Amino acid sequence: MPKTEVIAMTNVTPLPLRRPRPTGRPATVPVSVEWDEGRDLYILACERCCEWATMYRLEDADGWAETHRCDPELAALLATVLNQVAA
Ligand SMILES: [Zn+2]
Repeated sequence: MPKTEVIAMTNVTPLPLRRPRPTGRPATVPVSVEWDEGRDLYILACERCCEWATMYRLEDADGWAETHRCDPELAALLATVLNQVAA
């Protein structure tokens, strides 16, 4: 039986190389961190795509905020909805 070449059916889009940002702002996402005293944990919420998470340690919260990437479709959808509300 001849060896067949396996082609991975991945749907991964390569990340674009670092592009200079015209505004000069860092590529961080606006993530708010709140301390929930009742549950003894941090609540993180992305202000752009509304994704949220809970973390027990501030280091983890920082890590989440740093590694979080908005779902572009969701962010675009929310931006559209917010614009409609504002209009
Ligand atoms: Zn987000």
